[in-house]
Amino acid sequence: MHPIVTVGSVAFDSVKTPFGEASRVVGGAATYFAVAASFFTDVRLVGVVGEDFAEEHARVFAGRRIDTAGLQRVPGETFRWKGEYGFDLNTRETIYTRLNVFERFRPVLPDEYRSTPFVFLANIHPALQTEVLTQVERPRFVAADTMDYWIEGTPEELRAVLRRIDALVINDEEARQLAGESNVVKAARAIQKLGPRLLVIKRGEHGVLMTRDDGFFAAPGMPLDTVMDPTGAGDTFAGGFMGYLASAPETTDEVLTRAAIAGSALASLAVEDFGLDGLLRASSKTINQRFQAFKRLTHFEVL
Ligand code: AMP
Repeated sequence: MHPIVTVGSVAFDSVKTPFGEASRVVGGAATYFAVAASFFTDVRLVGVVGEDFAEEHARVFAGRRIDTAGLQRVPGETFRWKGEYGFDLNTRETIYTRLNVFERFRPVLPDEYRSTPFVFLANIHPALQTEVLTQVERPRFVAADTMDYWIEGTPEELRAVLRRIDALVINDEEARQLAGESNVVKAARAIQKLGPRLLVIKRGEHGVLMTRDDGFFAAPGMPLDTVMDPTGAGDTFAGGFMGYLASAPETTDEVLTRAAIAGSALASLAVEDFGLDGLLRASSKTINQRFQAFKRLTHFEVL
């Protein structure tokens, strides 16, 4: 079992879906990632919060395998994001993004983080992703996420990150945009040429598509009768995926396949409630039950 270091946003989120609202709840890409991955291994968190991030907010990390020594607390306000979802939860409008303390954030890895073998660079400025990467000594497996904002705004910095990572975990729209290619299979192949040998493409409620040496592995999304809030589903997927990989002795194709299901299982638990609540309630028992449910959902015999 290996530890993972992750860098990304720790946030106060406000979310409105057709089923309700949550206001100023703890969120952020690195938060979802860390909580999800901590079900499988030790997670070292690098990020920044403001003075408004009180003890009660930090409780989401307590009692889990999450080391917050790399989470800086500085004067100012914590990153804030507000999103509103459409009727089918597939469309989301960002109402605001307030970088706040992230504007002047410089990641500094505590010494004990520098030899971490697994690295996940959550969605932040690619220059910051590179800064973290340069502080880790010869990592074994590096994965990153990104978003349209960086694909458009900082393409050169993003390309520098792509050259240094093993896996890119992004959604299908972003894969198309990054590759300039509407076919998602061709987009995956084109992105592989930019650096990452492994592409993990998240397709929201439709599941995940992952490249493999012999082609692709695809898993559907779990059909759920209650979906309250998809916020953080992508980061939760990444946490389950990386957590599973880091807990395995080797990163074989078989392990990658199960890791994709682990990510899908955790994401399916996370979207059943608002904010982090679904994920915080998860346990090895419920995760295992979802794992089995994915097997039943996808298994068939060829006669
Ligand atoms: P997802 O639903 O996977 O896109 O992730 C949503 C999470 O990402 C929320 O908890 C937000 O706080 C965080 N987030 C939204 N926009 C940004 C951004 N520009 N940079 C970093 N984190 C963000």
